[in-house]
Amino acid sequence: MDGVVIAHETAPARVLIGQGACDRVAGEVERLGGERVLLVSTPSAAAASERVAGALGTCLAARFDRAAPHTPVTVTAQAMAVVEATRTDCVIAIGGGSAIGLAKAVSARTGMPQIAVPTTYAGSEATPVLGETENGVKTTRRDPALAPGTIIYDPDLTLGMPRGLTRTSAMNALAHAVEALWAPDATRLTDALATEAVDGILRALPEVLADPADPDARGQLQTAAWLAGVCLAQTRMGLHHQLAHVLGGSFDLPHAELHTILLDHVMAYNLPSAPGALARLTRLVGPNPVQVVARLTREYEGPTTLGALGIPLDGLRGIAERVAANPYPNPRPLTADAVLDLLERAW
Ligand code: NAD
Repeated sequence: MDGVVIAHETAPARVLIGQGACDRVAGEVERLGGERVLLVSTPSAAAASERVAGALGTCLAARFDRAAPHTPVTVTAQAMAVVEATRTDCVIAIGGGSAIGLAKAVSARTGMPQIAVPTTYAGSEATPVLGETENGVKTTRRDPALAPGTIIYDPDLTLGMPRGLTRTSAMNALAHAVEALWAPDATRLTDALATEAVDGILRALPEVLADPADPDARGQLQTAAWLAGVCLAQTRMGLHHQLAHVLGGSFDLPHAELHTILLDHVMAYNLPSAPGALARLTRLVGPNPVQVVARLTREYEGPTTLGALGIPLDGLRGIAERVAANPYPNPRPLTADAVLDLLERAW
C-alpha cells in the first residue's frame, strides 16, 4: 500500500541554556578536545565578547572581531590567516548571525569543532546552512557538518541589547516559526516547535521591551528564538524568506529590519491559503494574527516600510518578477502582479 512517508532528521547538538551558561565555555571546549580557541565576533558585540574571553581563560589563543554580514570570503581569509598563525583548534562565535556565519566558514575550511554563543535571535546557530559572499554574489550551502555542535544560550549576554535590535531580531525569529507552520515539509514536531516559538516570542517580546534588562523575560525570549531557529533548520522556507533574501541581496539592507517590515504583509497574503497555520495562530493570539504582528512592526522606532529603508518604488517590479519566476515553495501560488502588490503595500 502506498502512503505518505515523512523523513525527519535532526542535527545532533548540545545546547546549554540559562543565566551564567557562558561561564562554562572552557569546559565545553575541553569536552570537544580543544586547547587553543579562536574567538570570533563583530565589533559592536564587544561587551559580550569580553565576558566569554574572560571565561575561556588560558585556552583563548586568538581573537578576531571583524565578522561582517553575509560572510564575505575576504573576511574569512583574514580569519584563516589568524588560525594559521596561532595554531587554533576550536572556534567560538560570540554574537549574531554574522559572527556565527564566520565560525561556520572557518570550521568548514579546517574541520575545527565550533561553539556558538548567540547574542541575537536570528537562529543561525541552529542551522546547517552557510551563506558566503564573493564578489557581491551570495551562495548558500547546506551540510550537517556546518551546524555548531554546541550552542550556549545565556540571557545575560543579551541584557544590553538595544530595544530596536531586540524587536527586529525577535521578529526575524518569529518569521522562522510562522513560515515553518505553512512549510510543505512541516511535521508534527516542527508544528509543535513553531507553535511554542510563536507563543513564546509574542509573550516575551513585550515584557523584554518593557524592561530590556529583565533576565527572566530575556531568557524566555531567547528560548523561544532557539525553537524558531530549529524550525528554520528543519523546514523549507517560503515567500517571506525569499523576499528577505532577494531584497536584502539586491539593495544591501539590514537583515532583521527587512524581516520585520515584511512579515505581516506576507502573513496577510499567505494565511488565507494556509488553514493549518491560521488555526494555530488564531488559537494563540485570537482572530487576527496579522494585526497582532503588524502592531509589533508599527511600534518599531526605526524604518517600518520598504520605502523608509531606502528601496526605490520603481525597483519593486523587477524583484516581484524574479521571485515569481523562481518561487520558494509557498502555500499560496505567486504571480508577479500579486508579489508586486504585496511589496507596494510594504513600501
Ligand atoms: P548580526 O550578527 O549582523 O548583528 C547585527 C548587529 O548587532 C551587529 O552590529 C552586531 O555586532 C550587533 N549585536 C549582536 N548582538 C548584540 C547584542 N547582544 N547587543 C548589542 N549589539 C549586538 O545580525 P543578525 O541579525 O544576528 O544576523 C544576520 C546575519 O546572519 C545575516 O548575514 C544572515 O544572512 C545570517 N543568518 C544566517 C542564518 C543561517 O541559517 N545560515 C540564519 C539567520 C541569519
